[in-house]
Amino acid sequence: YAAVAALALGCPFAFAQPNPALMGDKKAFIDDLMRQMTLDEKVGQLRLISIGPEMPAPQLAEEVAAGRVGGTFNSVNHKEQRPLQEAAVQRSRLKIPMLFAYDVVHGHRTSFPIGLGLASSWNLDAVRKVARIAAQEASADGIDLTFAPTVDIARDPRWGRTSEGFGEDTFLVSQLARAMVEGFQNGSPAKRDSIMASVKHFALYGAVEGGRDYNIVDMSPMRMYNDYLPPYKAAIDAGAGGVMIALNTVNGVPASANTWLLQDLLRKDWGFKGVTVSDHGAITELVNHGVASNDTEAAKLAIKAGVDMSMADKVYIKELPGLVKSGEVSMAEIDNAVREVLGAKFDMGLFKEPFLRIGKPEDDPVDLKADSRLHRPPAREVARESMVLLENRNKTLPLNKGATIALVGPLADSQVDMLGVWSGQGVAKQTVTLKSGLEAAMAGQRGKLLHARGANITNREDIVKYLNFLNWDEPEVTQDPRSPQAMIDEAVATAKQADVIVAAVGEARGMSHESSSRTELDLPESQQALLKALKATGKPLVLVLMNGRPLTLNWERENADAMLETWFAGTEGGHAIADVLFGDENPSGKLPISLPRSVGQIPTYYNHSRLGRPFTPGKPGNYTSQYFDQPQGALYPFGYGLSYTSFSLGEIKLSAPTMKRGGQVQARITVKNTGDRAGATVVQLYLQDVAASVVRPVKELKDFQKVMLQPGESRELTFTIREEQLKFFNAKLEYGAEVGEFKLQLGLDSQDVQVASFALVD
Ligand code: BGC
Repeated sequence: YAAVAALALGCPFAFAQPNPALMGDKKAFIDDLMRQMTLDEKVGQLRLISIGPEMPAPQLAEEVAAGRVGGTFNSVNHKEQRPLQEAAVQRSRLKIPMLFAYDVVHGHRTSFPIGLGLASSWNLDAVRKVARIAAQEASADGIDLTFAPTVDIARDPRWGRTSEGFGEDTFLVSQLARAMVEGFQNGSPAKRDSIMASVKHFALYGAVEGGRDYNIVDMSPMRMYNDYLPPYKAAIDAGAGGVMIALNTVNGVPASANTWLLQDLLRKDWGFKGVTVSDHGAITELVNHGVASNDTEAAKLAIKAGVDMSMADKVYIKELPGLVKSGEVSMAEIDNAVREVLGAKFDMGLFKEPFLRIGKPEDDPVDLKADSRLHRPPAREVARESMVLLENRNKTLPLNKGATIALVGPLADSQVDMLGVWSGQGVAKQTVTLKSGLEAAMAGQRGKLLHARGANITNREDIVKYLNFLNWDEPEVTQDPRSPQAMIDEAVATAKQADVIVAAVGEARGMSHESSSRTELDLPESQQALLKALKATGKPLVLVLMNGRPLTLNWERENADAMLETWFAGTEGGHAIADVLFGDENPSGKLPISLPRSVGQIPTYYNHSRLGRPFTPGKPGNYTSQYFDQPQGALYPFGYGLSYTSFSLGEIKLSAPTMKRGGQVQARITVKNTGDRAGATVVQLYLQDVAASVVRPVKELKDFQKVMLQPGESRELTFTIREEQLKFFNAKLEYGAEVGEFKLQLGLDSQDVQVASFALVD
């Protein structure tokens, strides 16, 4: 009857739709579908649109029914998603399902620590679990694809997005990239509680000149291949189904128009088979970059370069049909992109079950405030592990629950900031602040908690205005109307009644975000003034730092009795910080990024190239590569972090003085807990190629092991070094290891290391 009706209606496409009989063969299935698609329908699949800001939901449903949308992002609401998916699979001619994307970056309903915090744990299993939980929560909210992990190597903390990534080190970031993808996808993005990962921002976004967001990137190919590209590749090798293309240029050509990047490197060299997505509005920005004179040219450049989906602009939908008709873009070029989008939908299981993650109508309304959906215990656990103890003079920490504590500072009771940026919608109210965390820990104890805000985040109204423009859940920054001096006076009076001061200071979360580059990395002036006044009371001063990037902490280092870097610790942040402050958790975090002494010293990354006139960290020296007005090297080096206990390392024992090609050498070392508390530390292995055909880094992290030891316990660790770990890209971009001597270094941070040597021989 349907056939007769279709013929009677004169509709030749009445049966056109995905053919379930071909579901067992992805290629055949997609080929069959594509044969049925009109040009407009193909171009529709390439459009990724933001619900709300770009188009209200009802209008969007009509666009979907017309086959003019491939997917949306920004919605976690079944109420919005279901009608759109219904429009796609019931009303659109070809019944191709929509995909729903979201920035699931460091959690979803439950916020875990920001990227820098996760990286500080040096715990790959924990990070894999974070991504797993995030995928479970996000898939339950109807999300199929995340714009994550963010694996941009960041060596310039002026860049606000330093917070999102995993720091400065290629090896560590690559390991974490892999763990995140494994957690999100869990073996297959087709599973109901998996989401597809799209690694970002491809490529080199963290290297924007001067740390100024959206700036250009110019980089030697050797540096690119050795230092900046491996994390993206690690994510892809781990099976990431998507890649988000960066907003920056790569050596003169914007990433979104960069054929070398998107085709030669990504597809041909790396064999990437998934979907590429532009960043927000990036295709139309090709006009601003001055490589296209209008949107028509921009669309042409992007599709030819290999940008499959265009996010949040109308350039593809408007321009591509005309470009095909005029012959400037071939149907094959369109087909390549469409094939990837359909392939991703296939891989996410959407053709089989379009409502796979949208759930049943009775699940509505999605209650964003529902605490039952949160994963509080794991969030607390990971947050505890993400904190880095920078100073602890006279064993100021851990604190005694019987003490009177003066809690001060603009971050002491802020829910929004604790979350960090890219946190799920509507979750701020469920966040535990430091104040509530301390209250909970001290309940029923002899001690007392006093509280005074002491300062606003900043006294600069222009900055407050800027940050509030960002506005996610609620005003980002709420100013206390009292005068700065009145607030300080109150805090000092409070401190005088206490045994110890805990000052929660740092940044508003929006200060470390997209478009939030800073020229200065000191604590804002209002907070410096507060700390100086508190110091003058003579009471022990504990700083709890909350910030999304390395800050310059010179005064703080000299004057604080203890300093705990907590980054933005997420939903359970307040509990986790209290656990560490009271010693229920012994801190074990290690810095995934160097903390500079000053902005003028940036970049301060540890694995810089060997120098003809090397500087000595912390020391001056004439005619060496140094700044003469400051001690050399980082204030706190990469890999650094204290514990409430102490550890010692024995001598390195090598299994052999030489390694044959294809062979291996083992390094053994004993690590001992020499203090009186159980604690974990990270033993880090660095290598230096002593003489190579090109200048190589002073050292590079190549392996690490995190160990938990009881007081007095020692353990022998074995590290196996293989030829692969000695390889690098040389001046001709050939990848390999060169024979000769290598210095193997083992330490509990990147600077304080034991050294042994071996040689690679043919
Ligand atoms: C950011 C991306 C993000 C996208 C979608 C852009 O502005 O650069 O990281 O995934 O927006 O929200």
